[in-house]
Amino acid sequence: MAIKRYKKGDSVKLSPNFRAREFDCQGKDCCTTTLVDEKLVEYLQKIRDHFGKPVYITAYRCKTHNARTPNAAPNSYHIYGQAADFHIDGVEPAEIAKYAEQIGIKGIGLYDTFVHIDTRQSKSFWYGHGQERRATFGEAGPYTLAQFVREVQAATGSAVDGIPGPETLGNTVTVSTRVNRAHPVVKAVQKRLYALGYTQVGEADGVAGAKFREAVIAFQTDNGCAADGEITARNKTWRKLLEMQ
Ligand SMILES: [Zn+2]
Ligand SMILES: [Zn+2]
Repeated sequence: MAIKRYKKGDSVKLSPNFRAREFDCQGKDCCTTTLVDEKLVEYLQKIRDHFGKPVYITAYRCKTHNARTPNAAPNSYHIYGQAADFHIDGVEPAEIAKYAEQIGIKGIGLYDTFVHIDTRQSKSFWYGHGQERRATFGEAGPYTLAQFVREVQAATGSAVDGIPGPETLGNTVTVSTRVNRAHPVVKAVQKRLYALGYTQVGEADGVAGAKFREAVIAFQTDNGCAADGEITARNKTWRKLLEMQ
């Protein structure tokens, strides 16, 4: 394994799903070459194969661009072509971090909207810009508001950024207790209610059945909403689910 050097913009294929230019520095007028660790490509291709969906990366950063990047470490693995930040539409970053750990990646940073991996040799796992240490990504962490919003966005075809708001979620989401088939938005709401302590909602199966209705009514009662067991974009229940920390 070695660190390879490419001309910025080079479209040569490095693996079945990645071209050199995808690893280019994102800075403007700062550099003309791109460094790529072959090991990094191998890791990303494994992740691509496992999830079966496009992996959107930002990888190499020249020193100039790194210095201009907020929150970037001065000696970041990105400046050696040994790190990538990436996301996969519709896949939780926590799921990606868990898989990255399983395939033996040693440098993993989990963030709300993306995952950082690098090719370091000794283990360093962390969470967020505060770099809170993690021993493992094996156990699912608490189901966060950002995760909930991302799942709803993915299910409704909105831009997936984890930020709640009418701009990203639209005003069209309706979760009715009359839905009999599994629905991804119902599933996300079930997980959300469970995380907020409404454990009577039971398993997140995506079906808005009796348990779902019971949990919704309990949530509505506790939060001063009309206790009708319905969640719509325009009623207070939906907003409460999107706003509560
Ligand atoms: Zn650059
Ligand atoms: Zn990174």
